[in-house]
Amino acid sequence: MNEFAGSQYLIEIIYLVASALFILSLKWMSSPATARHGIWAGEIGMVLAIAGTLLHRGIVDWKWIVIGLVLGSGIGIPLGMVQMTAVPQRTALSHAFGALCVTLVGTAEFYLRTPNVPKFMMSVLSMEVILGGLTFTGSLMAAGKLQEILPQRPITYKGQNLVNFLLFSAAVGSAVYLVVHPETKQLFPLIVGISLIFGVLLVIPIGGADMPTVISLLNSYAGLSAAAMGFVLQNKLLIIAGALDGSSGLILSVIMSKAMNRSFRNVLFGAFGQVQASAAGGAEAKPVRSATPEEAAAILSAANKVVIVPGYGMAVAQAQHKVRELYDMLTKKGVEVRFAIHPVAGRMPGHMNVLLAEADIPYDRLIEMEEINGDFPQTDVALIIGANDVTNPAARTDQSSPIFGMPILDVDKAHTVMVIKRGMSPGFAGIDNPLYYLDRTLMLFGDAKQFVGAIVRELGGGH
Ligand code: NDP
Repeated sequence: MNEFAGSQYLIEIIYLVASALFILSLKWMSSPATARHGIWAGEIGMVLAIAGTLLHRGIVDWKWIVIGLVLGSGIGIPLGMVQMTAVPQRTALSHAFGALCVTLVGTAEFYLRTPNVPKFMMSVLSMEVILGGLTFTGSLMAAGKLQEILPQRPITYKGQNLVNFLLFSAAVGSAVYLVVHPETKQLFPLIVGISLIFGVLLVIPIGGADMPTVISLLNSYAGLSAAAMGFVLQNKLLIIAGALDGSSGLILSVIMSKAMNRSFRNVLFGAFGQVQASAAGGAEAKPVRSATPEEAAAILSAANKVVIVPGYGMAVAQAQHKVRELYDMLTKKGVEVRFAIHPVAGRMPGHMNVLLAEADIPYDRLIEMEEINGDFPQTDVALIIGANDVTNPAARTDQSSPIFGMPILDVDKAHTVMVIKRGMSPGFAGIDNPLYYLDRTLMLFGDAKQFVGAIVRELGGGH
């Protein structure tokens, strides 16, 4: 075997191991108990993938690779240090960078190879830049909306779906024409340009409660564009990693759209979830009943079955460790305590699982929405900690509500409902929650960490 074939062989083996690690990574990440292994497997796989690529014989100059590596690490490390509540917008930024890279590589490949681009290659190249372009700008818009640099409310206009459809068709139509008539290379910048504009238009009509679906859908697009790039560069690892990313993103968006009650067709064609954010501030003040930590502690200790519903406010207050103390105190008193997990509680998929796992709450105490909803009528106390939209009964009962049809945790069926939040502000969807005005509901006004800490002290624990 000559030296060239030897290094090629080594690269293929490294890629094979990296691919296996990516698959294991996804498998392990599907359960909180093995998720840490999953992260390690993914990271080692990525290091191997980079190492394998650096062994490539085609590298003629290391200068730009080193500059890219230093610049990328310099930007990536601080970007990774964000608060957990800002992870969705950070993830959107990662998709944007990945998609930009794919689009630039696709553009470079087109001009390097043209006019001798075979039809199959031109088809995947077009798919690469269309998906890459729309994912780049779409992800930037999503990050901007989540960071509240851009307005969160949906921006809609008449005929929006038609405009989006026509734009997308124009990009695909031009790509098909270019495949058939490779000499019309002036169409290429047009395809890229339309895709960039389409990405913006795809995301602007989406607001509030639909954002999680968008992020995972863009994840899927980024993966598919990377897989297309793998075909262009004839790199098997890119095809595998891109396909894994594309399909897992797609599965996640299907799960998310079900959780938000959006039909998937509606998601795919954009302009969905025209949630009109109407801050509850304007509504007339209705009376609510409130209670002190002392009263809350007494009610909790008298209960047999308690279900704790964590939400975004628990994440903001970083109350998970105090919640763990509360869990310990109540369990010690013989109360059965479980946690109800809504798939979109918090600001990213799995947000609550991560926080509760960080506080070492046993995994078997975390119960998914479908499984626990039937138990609320037999639950003495539903204790809601910083959750709002995911408990809003209007989603079940009020056809005029913007979140009508979204599956929620049926906490209003519990004998007593207690809600820890700082005031009467609405949640992410910007709408009022009728749960707070029920006779069986007690509002526990305060910061989640402080209030739970105060209950723990009343129960005889804490410091
Ligand atoms: P919400 O955003 O509906 O409500 C959170 C509540 O927490 C607020 O009403 C707020 O009320 C309260 N809160 C804020 N800070 C504190 C604090 N320090 N202490 C106590 N309470 C606090 O959260 P949910 O988890 O119920 O719902 C998630 C929402 O986010 C859904 O609409 C979902 O669609 C959306 N979303 C989800 C994503 C995901 O992937 N999970 C991603 C993006 C959006 P107050 O200010 O009065 O304290």
